[in-house]
Parts: sequence; structure tokens; C-alpha cells
Amino acid sequence: MCSMYTQLQSLVQPGTFVGGSWDPIDDSFDVLDPARAQVITSVAAGTPEDIDRAVQAAWEAFPSWRKVSAYERGATLRRIGAMLLDRLEPLAELVSIDSGKPISQARGDVRNSAKHFEFYGGVTDKVGGRELPLDTDHLTYTRWEPRGVTAHITPWNNPISIPCRSIAAALAMGNTVVVKPSEMAPLGVIALARILEESDLPPGAFNVVTGPGSTAGAALAAHPGIRSVTFTGSVETGAEVMKAAAPNITPVSLELGGKAPQLVFDDADVDAALGGCAFGIVRNAGQSCIAGTRIYVHDPIYSMFVERLGELLRSTVIGAGTDDPDMGPLISERQRSRVIAAVESSTGELICGGGIPALDGDLADGFFIEPTLIAEPEHGDPVSTRELFAPVATIEPFSDQDEAIERANDTPFGLSGGLWTRDLSTAHRVANALEVGSVSVNAYPVRYYHGPHGGYKQSGIGREQGMEALAHYVEIKKVGIRL
Ligand code: NDP
Repeated sequence: MCSMYTQLQSLVQPGTFVGGSWDPIDDSFDVLDPARAQVITSVAAGTPEDIDRAVQAAWEAFPSWRKVSAYERGATLRRIGAMLLDRLEPLAELVSIDSGKPISQARGDVRNSAKHFEFYGGVTDKVGGRELPLDTDHLTYTRWEPRGVTAHITPWNNPISIPCRSIAAALAMGNTVVVKPSEMAPLGVIALARILEESDLPPGAFNVVTGPGSTAGAALAAHPGIRSVTFTGSVETGAEVMKAAAPNITPVSLELGGKAPQLVFDDADVDAALGGCAFGIVRNAGQSCIAGTRIYVHDPIYSMFVERLGELLRSTVIGAGTDDPDMGPLISERQRSRVIAAVESSTGELICGGGIPALDGDLADGFFIEPTLIAEPEHGDPVSTRELFAPVATIEPFSDQDEAIERANDTPFGLSGGLWTRDLSTAHRVANALEVGSVSVNAYPVRYYHGPHGGYKQSGIGREQGMEALAHYVEIKKVGIRL
């Protein structure tokens, strides 16, 4: 085993984390380092029976966690945030090796995880029900009550911050948690469990079952003991989760895919727009729901922009995440083959990329791909309509604002979008017209750990992060009293 992997073993555990202890495993699966195509470690292949045990343990912990005072609950969460920051470097290294992302981006993932706990740790004693003004001899008020056991099914691309954002919100409102991380990069959530083990959470308030989505994930979404499901992943799996939750009428929050447009107007700061568009493509190797992969450029600057963006993308430094390059590998060989097939069959003009970069030594077998730019594919070409989850973007010209808006909105997705202009009216008009959950102007992406995140159309239901997410984790009860 590579010495880098040996050092990480103290952060992970091979079993499932249920009721505050690590249970031995009957069956396991290998976790791969996508930069080297080597096995990092093996983790538990949890079963529907493990999900049952985890849900039961979470219900057993629920009465004690819900009765912890709002102030103490908040303090516990804030301390967890500090514990995450104390372990910033080892956690970032783990996330970088497990998911392939550059270490500086992995550090951001861990910092955001801590911020989610700090933020929700700060709201526990500041939110709740209200008194309803009545003109009769009655007192009527509402109460926010925790739902009970909440399920969290998470993807691999931000393998610790995405789980933390919903776990922290659920715990803040007094719920208990069962998490099923992606089998592609489960180590961040396992390391999180090792940290939460040392926290003041009662045993069973937080449970982790690793394992395949088709068994452990499906069992969790369909479990009658679950009171809410938070899912982040693809549109297809989101629809499966919704179907699985439907017989129990379990509320779902779905953060799904995207195909974010970037609109570059001819009055934009071109250097800034080029940098932002390139970053929006290569960040996390394009494996981001908000990757800016449909670029539309105003006619007068189109040819120049295509040429310069191609040059920028060709200069991308590619390597193992731990060496902090501009871009790491894709998550799997399967994903890389799928992306290369889509690029090869595209109807557009290949401006740059499209191939596998030649890397030496132990990176020779990694799942790397070149950043790719394709100009003017035919309408309906999958490279411009499907979420490839890769550093592959299309670029097309537009003639005026109306056309730019129409093209940007011509997609079933609606998660994120960017626009570049120096004109204040253009910025506001276009931002208002885009059918997306978040708009970034003159930088990409502009996001904060405490702003609501979610999508229009097929990009999801509900909002994660910030105050807006809290409604998913509470039942609202109305009490009326005749005085
Ligand atoms: P998937 O939809 O494949 O998987 C997401 C999670 O669901 C994983 O934990 C997976 O487990 C699990 N899963 C798979 N099948 C089922 C099932 N039948 N029932 C229940 N759970 C299941 O997405 P990816 O992990 O490939 O992530 C990439 C996708 O996530 C992209 O489409 C991206 O846009 C989206 N995403 C959205 C974000 C947002 O906030 N809107 C943020 C980040 C990503 P396993 O992997 O173990 O099979």
C-alpha cells in the first residue's frame, strides 16, 4: 500500500457507524484513488438490514437529543465546527486523495464543512414559532418541532461539505441523522463520524451506513422510519429517491444536476470573464453541479473569446490533487469513457482538449482528461444538453440580450448561471430573467456557505444551506388556547 494511504488509515474505519459504535462488516468494497487508480482502503458494503439498525439507533437517540436545550445544541454544533478546523490538513488530504480534487479546493471543502456547523450552531436559539395575532379571547401560537430521524444521501464531488450542510441543519433543529455517502468517495463522511464520536452528540444521533446506492441508498429512501430525505445527486437518481419516498409520503429535498450558462456581454471585463469561465470549467475537473459549461458570447467579441479561452484551457496544469494542480482527475474510468464518447460524437468544432493527457509514473493510470472546449454544436447535441460532470464546455455566439436569455433558459436544468457585463441594467435584467437558483455576476461562482442553494426545474426541489433549508427539518405545530 502507498505510504500516503497508510497515513490516512487512522482517519477511517472499515465498519458502519451505528448507535455510536463501529460494527464489524460482513462485506466490503474497495475505495479507489482516482489519480493513481489504486485501492486506498476497503469500507463496509452496508445492507438494508444495516439501514434498519441505523434508523432504529437514530430513533433511540432522538428523545435525548431533542430535549437538549437550544443553546447547548448550538454549542455542540459549534464545537464540532472547531474540531473539523483542528483537523483541517489531514481531512483535506483525505478528501483530495479520495475524490481527486486539488488540495486547495479540498481545504475549502473542509472549511465549508466547519462553517455549516458554525452557522447552524448559531441559529438553534434564534428561530422558532410565533404568536398569531387574534381578535378573540384565544392565544394561538406555532411551534417548530424536530421531525425525528432524517436521511441524507450524498454524492462524491464535495464529499464532506455536502453531507455537513444538511447534517448540521438537521441536528440544529433537534433531529437525528442517518447518512449514506457515495461509494465513489465515502472516506470524508467516515472521517466525520470519527470526529462526531468524540463530540457531545448522544450515541445514535449520527449514523453512517456506507454501501451501494442501489441497495443501502434505496433502502434508506424507502424506509418507513425516515421523516425526511435530503438527497444530492443526479436527476435520474433523484427521481428514484422521490419514488421510493412516495409510499410513505416522506418529504424530500433534492439538489440535482445543472448545466450552467455563462453569458459574456461585449462590455465585460474580458480578462475577468476569461478567467471566470475557465475556472468554471476546470474547477473540481468540472465535477460540480454548478460547473459553467454552456458559454454564450456576444457577437462582437466572440472569435477573440473562443481563441483566448482555448489558450487558457490548454495551459491548465493537470495532476494529482495532493500536488495542488489546476485540475485533478475524473472520479472513475467509467465516467471518463462516457465523457470521451460524448466529445467524440459531438457535432461541434473541437477548439481544444478531448483527449487523455500523458502523465508519468504512478499517475499514468489515473482517470485524467484534458479540459475541452467545443464551438457551436448543433441544437440538441448531448455535449450542450446533458450534464457531463467533466471539464467540457460548449461555446456559442449571441446577438442581443433577448437571445442570450432565451438560450440560457433553453434547458431542463436551472441550478446556476453566470453573466459578465459592466452595465448595471444588463446585470439586473439578465439576473432576473435567468431561470436558475443562483446567479453570479462578474465572478464565477459567487457562493457562500449561508446562502440558499437549490434549483429551478429539474435541478431540484427545496433549498439547502442558510435559513431557507430549515423548513425541511421541522414540523410546524399550531396550538390554540381559549383563555
Ligand atoms: P448519483 O445520483 O449517482 O448518486 C448520488 C447518491 O445517491 C450517492 O450516494 C449514490 O450512491 C446514491 N444512490 C444511487 N442510486 C440510488 C438509489 N436508487 N436510491 C438511493 N440512493 C442512490 O450522483 P453522483 O454521486 O454521481 O453525483 C453527481 C451528481 O450529483 C451530478 O448530477 C451533480 O450535478 C449532482 N450534484 C448536485 C449538487 C447540488 O447541490 N445540486 C451538488 C453536487 C452534485 P452510490 O454512489 O454509492 O451508488
